[in-house]
Amino acid sequence: MQKYRHIFFDLDRTLYDFDRNNRETIYQLYCDFGLAEMGVADFDTFHKTYKSINLPLWERYKKQEITKKYLNVARFSDTLKAFGINHGLAEKFASEYIRLSPMQVHLLPGTKELLDYLFPKYPLHIITNGFDEIQFLKISRCGLEKYFQHVIVSEDAGAQKPDPRIFDYAFEKTGALPKESLLVGDDPQSDIFGAQQAGMDQVWLAQPGETSAYEPTYQIGQLKELMDFL
Ligand SMILES: [Mg+2]
Repeated sequence: MQKYRHIFFDLDRTLYDFDRNNRETIYQLYCDFGLAEMGVADFDTFHKTYKSINLPLWERYKKQEITKKYLNVARFSDTLKAFGINHGLAEKFASEYIRLSPMQVHLLPGTKELLDYLFPKYPLHIITNGFDEIQFLKISRCGLEKYFQHVIVSEDAGAQKPDPRIFDYAFEKTGALPKESLLVGDDPQSDIFGAQQAGMDQVWLAQPGETSAYEPTYQIGQLKELMDFL
């Protein structure tokens, strides 16, 4: 007997190789804006600084302490400032980032094989934290659109995982019931804790050696392992 009737996937770092794609986008911006010529000698340091500034800003955005526009510009103005670049480059940087980041199309290993396998068996959906315009473009440019019946983006839902409201919104949109639904995701808090609160079973796609405060229903290290039990 098939236990699940709907499979929900997180997007970034679950199907979409966010770290590789993000690095390539930031590298392209680093080159296009001539940052090496402005004295930012080391790209890796620049990228690390960007990540360390972006993460707490996203946490503030999640708590609705700052707006999307503020987040988008501040992550670049603060990074550039850390390298002594203060002139009005950040806004251009931010809009180029929005334009370029969905152009990157690297998927995590086994994504297409898994989706080809699951597609005839289950209705598949995406539930992702992010900006509408970026997430939808990523999905279509990666050729993932055809696999998914519904794509739920936090900006459209008005709440971010693990907030139960985004899961309620997803159930309403898809007609799925929590008990018959499975969520696959990489983030212990947003995905695993979020899905637990929503009453769904969960698959945690974990990095080697990674630990989590939340005990998932299933744990895997590679997407292809899902084919063993779905
Ligand atoms: Mg993720």
